[in-house]
Amino acid sequence: MADSASPPPYTVSREKALAPDASKGKKAHKVFFGRIIHSKSLTEIEILPKASLGVDDKGIIQFLDPNVDSAIEACGRHNGFANAETIDLKPMQFLFPGLIDTHMHAPQYPNMALGMEGDLKEWCENWTDPMEASYSDTSKAHRVYREMVAKELENGSTTVAYNSSIHPDATNVLADTCLEFGQRAVIGKLCILVGSTHGNWEKSTQQSIDDEKKVVEHIRKIDPEGKLVLPCIQPRAGSYVPPELMTGLGDLYRDSDPIRVQAHMCETPLEVEQMHKLHEGKFESYADMYDHYGLFGPRTILAHCIHLSDRDMEVMAEKKVGVAHNANSNTCLTDGWCRVRQLLDKGIKVGLGTDCSAGYSISILNSMRQASNVSRHLTIHTGDPAWKLSFEELVYLATMGGAEVCALDQTVGNFKVGKQLDALLVDVGLEDNINTSGHEHDDMALLKKWVFMGDDRSIRKVFVGGKLVAGKDLKG
Ligand SMILES: [Zn+2]
Repeated sequence: MADSASPPPYTVSREKALAPDASKGKKAHKVFFGRIIHSKSLTEIEILPKASLGVDDKGIIQFLDPNVDSAIEACGRHNGFANAETIDLKPMQFLFPGLIDTHMHAPQYPNMALGMEGDLKEWCENWTDPMEASYSDTSKAHRVYREMVAKELENGSTTVAYNSSIHPDATNVLADTCLEFGQRAVIGKLCILVGSTHGNWEKSTQQSIDDEKKVVEHIRKIDPEGKLVLPCIQPRAGSYVPPELMTGLGDLYRDSDPIRVQAHMCETPLEVEQMHKLHEGKFESYADMYDHYGLFGPRTILAHCIHLSDRDMEVMAEKKVGVAHNANSNTCLTDGWCRVRQLLDKGIKVGLGTDCSAGYSISILNSMRQASNVSRHLTIHTGDPAWKLSFEELVYLATMGGAEVCALDQTVGNFKVGKQLDALLVDVGLEDNINTSGHEHDDMALLKKWVFMGDDRSIRKVFVGGKLVAGKDLKG
């Protein structure tokens, strides 16, 4: 494509996004009372119409009690909660686990909704590469990431696995911003040596590895206990990282245990072909390539996984890697259909991703709708109804599935006692585009209406680790 298709420089001049007021997010024991909904498994959504949830000042859920009639009663019944702050939910409100975005490109945020005309290769060359390259300007990272992280939280994404750019300084700004705004995040510097355009590549294998180390060290310095921000190693894909660099990243993964990996895999047939070419055709499958370099394990997050061979799935299941399913992006770039049913049947972990800006929405609610549609298109295409994802499965993928993919399922994903409280206070009784008007037969109908019609207006409060960090009622 001609360079004339390149986007103009980033020109947004919004009012600077402010981090939540620290006094509003003060941690204290809290007791919620009202409708509480969460996912227990791929087949079970638990809806407690009148229940109480207690969270301590460290953000840990201490009880989920369905046998009380008020928050006050719950305070009296549970040790240490006598003086807790009480939050009574209104009749059309419910508490729901924070949404988890397993794949999002932070530097591409200004490009959202643009560039859908081309395929993956054209989109990378005309939109992604020049935009990502521009983050050599660290001040731009400050500007964009503050606005983006604020928007992500407003849309209910309490955890996001972010891809960054090749720049360590800009990546460190992203980590600082997530910590400041109180968002849980997996972050690494992107590694690219070949296959890119517009100067969007690193000078050498050594520089790429050294810069990745710098980011890992920075994240461990600002959040030593890994309470919110977790480092990862980030080879863009097999077609961008030659054997020598992939070997170095594999060594870093082993030496930095425990650490996560984020990478792309099997997005298009051309990308698979380019991987084999760069790695001299010596691997039976894409998964064998990553596994050979030691980058496959239970903390590996793989975006897309559309054009998989049986061998790929065999290795993925054996090594317990997770898949970020980006239905919106895969449709926008006409990459193909990820066969989620097949992955789940093989016991492979699956979560949802927005993959902005190849996907045009940062909302995981939108990702749920798109995942539903893609699964139904597979049924249309094959005539087999088994491809369709159930509502229970969609809710699981957006919360617990995402937590499993990010290796955070012991920490977040649902309201199990002992986990951190990452939660949304949702209101489906407002004058937005959710048409709740008495036609709903049960509480499940309210949840379905929110998932398929809701947006940030219905997300009134967002809690991460028990702390109020965002939402339309943040200031109220
Ligand atoms: Zn991606």
